[in-house]
Amino acid sequence: MRRSEFFLPTLKEIPSDAEVLSHQMMVRGGLIRRLASGIYSYLPLGWRVLHKVIKIVREEMDAAGGQEVLLPAIHPKELWDESGRWELYGEDMFHLLDRRKKSFCLAPTHEEAITNLVRSEVRSYRGLPLLLYQIQTKFRDEPRPRFGIVRCREFLMKDAYSFHRDENSLQETYKKVYNAYEKIFKRCGLDCEIVEADPGLIGGGLSHEFMVLAHNGEDVLVLCKKCGYKANADKRTDDICQAGNTKKKQSKELKEVKTPGMTTIEQVSEFLKVEPSTLVKTLIYFADENPVAVLIPGDREVNEAKLKSKLGATTINLASPQQIEKLTGAPVGFSGPVGLKLKMIADYSISGMVSFVTGANKNDTHLINVNIDRDFKIDEFGDLKIAIDGDPCPKCGGTLEVKTGIELGHTFNLGTRYSESMKATFLDENGKEKLMVMGCYGIGVSRIIAAVIEQHNDENGIILPISIAPFPVTILPLNMNDENQKTLAEDIYSDLRFEGIEVLLDDRNEPAGVKFKDADLTGIPIKVILGEKSLKEGKIEIQLRSTGEKLKVEKSKLIDEVKRLIKV
Ligand SMILES: [Zn+2]
Repeated sequence: MRRSEFFLPTLKEIPSDAEVLSHQMMVRGGLIRRLASGIYSYLPLGWRVLHKVIKIVREEMDAAGGQEVLLPAIHPKELWDESGRWELYGEDMFHLLDRRKKSFCLAPTHEEAITNLVRSEVRSYRGLPLLLYQIQTKFRDEPRPRFGIVRCREFLMKDAYSFHRDENSLQETYKKVYNAYEKIFKRCGLDCEIVEADPGLIGGGLSHEFMVLAHNGEDVLVLCKKCGYKANADKRTDDICQAGNTKKKQSKELKEVKTPGMTTIEQVSEFLKVEPSTLVKTLIYFADENPVAVLIPGDREVNEAKLKSKLGATTINLASPQQIEKLTGAPVGFSGPVGLKLKMIADYSISGMVSFVTGANKNDTHLINVNIDRDFKIDEFGDLKIAIDGDPCPKCGGTLEVKTGIELGHTFNLGTRYSESMKATFLDENGKEKLMVMGCYGIGVSRIIAAVIEQHNDENGIILPISIAPFPVTILPLNMNDENQKTLAEDIYSDLRFEGIEVLLDDRNEPAGVKFKDADLTGIPIKVILGEKSLKEGKIEIQLRSTGEKLKVEKSKLIDEVKRLIKV
């Protein structure tokens, strides 16, 4: 491709609406442009990168035994009613009406569509197992699209679904896809953390997330250096950590104290001269339609994703001040568990606390020396806090580190979540009808590019690995008025293309500095530099974007050298 003809608008300045590095660099490097909030166009350079990523994903999915399909993006409502997810997705899904006023959605995911296909076509155990995948545009009406292509409303995803006669068969395929994912991310030049995850809206059991650590990532993960435990910070650890001893005897008498106007933890702790950690916050939530009191230590915050999953609720919302007053009899800031007639759920850490401070459900009043069991009962304990650095590891008691990352892949063991609601059955050897066991496996294909850039960049721009570079090589004749350079550039250009190597020839009549800047910005891995000085010596300079390393090679050996560098 000739740079003079190539549609590649690069920017000198950092775009003001780009919050994170990868977003800034993709806009500056001419890979993407924004059309509307969370909706992006891929320009030729970005589209080339995306194609490289798609090729890797496709090769590894095929190698894992997958077969590629393409399902529709527009789905009828009835299909989603079968799984019960039309309501569940709610406003996160784009809804539309056709001319007959029939409801459809722009599909945010394809469990329903694929289950519908397989249940109609596969009747016998002989047709199983089956691993189908597609690379397709997904639509999600995100409440807060952000970070460029990381959280979008329209994005490219690879989603795969597997169907099995039993759990053992699913485990085999799950492992194969898991391994394929490791290879995909490695080939894209990414260093991934594979963590245990909460299955969320998709439902089902075992689940893993493939995350890339990034400063501005919106996913939070916890890591334990001691035992290697890794998990999404939204994953509850109820399965591995237990409530402590709640039977400690406390003789201090429960007492009311006046706390006029003290509605925050800080005010109360300062007023009573106690640490915030010795207070217990009582928060009133509505889980779907049902009110529930949630207790956590005064110095901690509730992780609403954990709470939602603990309660098995579709939506959870903090109660309004009016609702709180109605339910507790006191204004906001004075809620407490003693005498409260609500379902009561508490974080594990409360179980070890004695003689703590809570609201008294009375205006301007708190209680001191409150104790579980003696003064009130907890219906259920669970892991409900937002994890922070230094929390104990649920597996080994070591110290957890909290990091942010970008989720790139997610694998789920769905069990019979969809085959049951959508009646996807098969006949086994004995002619007995059984439910198919399912797995589903997603990769945010477009997101991979942002993650690679977050991991590989410098102050000059993007650094792309050869595997996903739009062009592995760019030729920079530094002076287009020099006929020698011009002819040589053309020769090298046609020789490289003859070898099947994609190359960008910067044939613009621009100063050398501009050409270098653009080449760095766009992240092309290998620069072939034609400058006066080295040409006089009969040499051509090669510069590597990743290390800055410079090599000088004889003209006659240039093509072989480039081929060698590309194969590395
Ligand atoms: Zn640990």
